[in-house]
Amino acid sequence: MAQAIQRIADNLARVRERIAVAANSVNRDPSEIQLIGVSKYVGVEETAALLQSGCLDLGESRPQQLWEKAESAELASAKWHLIGHLQRNKVRRTLPVVHMIHSVDSLRLLEAIEQCASELQRPTQVLLEVNCSGDRAKHGMTSDALRRLLPSLADLNHVSACGLMTMASLKGGPDVAEQNFADLRKLRDTVQSECPSGIQLRELSMGMSQDFEAAIRAGSTMVRLGSILFEGVQI
Ligand SMILES: *Cc1c(COP(=O)(O)O)cnc(C)c1O
Repeated sequence: MAQAIQRIADNLARVRERIAVAANSVNRDPSEIQLIGVSKYVGVEETAALLQSGCLDLGESRPQQLWEKAESAELASAKWHLIGHLQRNKVRRTLPVVHMIHSVDSLRLLEAIEQCASELQRPTQVLLEVNCSGDRAKHGMTSDALRRLLPSLADLNHVSACGLMTMASLKGGPDVAEQNFADLRKLRDTVQSECPSGIQLRELSMGMSQDFEAAIRAGSTMVRLGSILFEGVQI
């Protein structure tokens, strides 16, 4: 395990350096980019190694795994991000342990979160997931669906919509990913002016291990990185 811990710390340092280089290449301040360490591939020990190395924001894509890790004493100091699909019947258990939900993909889900956040008196931050690639029919809203949802943001009292999230096309390669990221940035810039007053979609959650540098160049403020942080670690 000692070897794995060192390897995770080294991976993290190398990734932070690459984030800084990508940010500097487009004259952005690297501190504008938040790293979410995606721990879905590993158990509590490896996740704790990542946390101890200084990655305090951790992401899980399955609610159950997030609940389990959030209950673990070794991971008590983490801030948890749910990055995968959330069913409405799992909202109640998720809200008390989550810092941000990146994957709100329908008005129905948004309303369920508002209802629960109100009952639990638990202010909740969310991102609206957009399907920019077209090759993942199930995940994320179309840009039209996003636009239709915008007026409802005025009715939220316990939920803050802080920005947009997307996943790039897996099939398309780097050029297509770059286009997907540029599209999300453009969509955000356009819909910002259509938002009810007080709503600031400042966050863009985009970029994974294969494509985070392109995402940063396109304006990402949150990169969600998993496999690259656990490279060389036997799981
Ligand atoms: C798994 C996952 C990631 C991390 O992917 P890597 O390619 O391993 O960095 C990021 N975002 C979401 C939504 C994921 O499900």
